[in-house]
Amino acid sequence: MNKPRIAIVGAGLGGTAAAALMQRAGYSVRVYEQAPAFSRLGAGIHLGPNVMKVMRRIGCEDALNTMGSHPDFWYSRDWKSGDAIAQIPLGNFALREYGASYLTVHRGDFHALMTSALKPDTIAFNKHLKSVEDTGSEVRLTFNDGTVETADIAIGADGVNSRIREHLLGAEPPRYTGYVAHRAVFPASLLGTDPFDLCVKWWSEDRHMMVYYVTGKRDEIYYVTGVPQAEWPAGQSVAPSSRDEMREVFAGYHPSVQKLIDATPEVTKWPLLERDPLPLWSRGRLVLLGDACHPMKPHMAQGAAMAIEDAAMLTRCLGETGATDHAGAFALYEGNRAERASKVQLVSHNNTWLRSNEDPAWVFAYDVFNEPLTAPKAKEAAAVAA
Ligand SMILES: Cc1cc2nc3c(=O)[nH]c(=O)nc-3n(C[C@H](O)[C@H](O)[C@H](O)COP(=O)(O)OP(=O)(O)OC[C@H]3O[C@@H](n4cnc5c(N)ncnc54)[C@H](O)[C@@H]3O)c2cc1C
Repeated sequence: MNKPRIAIVGAGLGGTAAAALMQRAGYSVRVYEQAPAFSRLGAGIHLGPNVMKVMRRIGCEDALNTMGSHPDFWYSRDWKSGDAIAQIPLGNFALREYGASYLTVHRGDFHALMTSALKPDTIAFNKHLKSVEDTGSEVRLTFNDGTVETADIAIGADGVNSRIREHLLGAEPPRYTGYVAHRAVFPASLLGTDPFDLCVKWWSEDRHMMVYYVTGKRDEIYYVTGVPQAEWPAGQSVAPSSRDEMREVFAGYHPSVQKLIDATPEVTKWPLLERDPLPLWSRGRLVLLGDACHPMKPHMAQGAAMAIEDAAMLTRCLGETGATDHAGAFALYEGNRAERASKVQLVSHNNTWLRSNEDPAWVFAYDVFNEPLTAPKAKEAAAVAA
């Protein structure tokens, strides 16, 4: 058995990237997704040069460069005066210094593009994983519809409420951070003709609003916030919001923010959830990636980026050790990802990213395929063996 059968649970951004990369590496890959289909969820996403280098491998880089908006700068602005408190160069500077473009795109368009890079029928929809068993010689996945599938290894890319994480570490809901994110996407024509920054974060002491375009034509604009809210109903993933609520929570903010709120046709809000770094990322034939193992506040715009980098590093490590040595590959993978993912979790938690003119090279210049690999530490190797 040179090339194992790989099961990926969850066809989100991390699972889809893993499937695309692993198919290109020659593995037999099947993805199991609980949703009946995907829709164009109303959200945007930043794709930094660290992600675009992975997209180059998947063959999506050119299409994304056409699809996305290319901000010249990331502006951080004072909530009231509108003064630029930081101005981080992107555009050609990012291309030259970090090795790929910095884009903002519609999350649904990005996901659809990556999905189209998979072989036909790679994703099995309507497959909600109910339980998983590692028999020692294979993995058995049982789904809510009663079907059972087997694989040589299984990747838990099943998000913040991961069933595979629960199997490895026990049931424990993620922690509500006391913050929500409002999200709205709408036609930029609703804003009239005044020019807007291509990518700007408005900051006050305890809340913020991030705003950017999600298409190359700049005909759709997106905002996402971080706002304190003491309570959130456990288990609920989204709630409707309103222009009135937005006016209330952003009262006194700069007229540009008020203009965005006034133009908003529809806005929703989402709880921001976290976990502490996990004590292990894998056991036996099971391994985690993305939000399944390091969910974070989205305040660095790097959550999906970390999931995609994980997917690439896992593919690289399987190639390094030989795919039959899955324990070795998983230990190498964790050893080369945990520190970076934990650091990004922490900076996201503190919500300080690019609030001042800091150097973002440690995030954007990272090239997951060319970083020197370090051997797994003894602690990590022991945890995998336990
Ligand atoms: C408001 C907000 C804004 C954000 N903005 C950005 C940004 O700009 N840039 C960025 O990089 N990140 C951003 N993120 C973070 C990013 O969305 C997540 O980190 C990313 O989606 C994680 O990808 P994933 O593939 O690990 O998990 P997910 O995208 O959550 O995918 C998990 C998949 O698994 C499926 N699944 C779950 N359970 C099961 C089961 N039992 N059986 C089968 N399938 C299952 C789900 O249906 C889903 O499709 C943001 C997050 C939020 C909340």
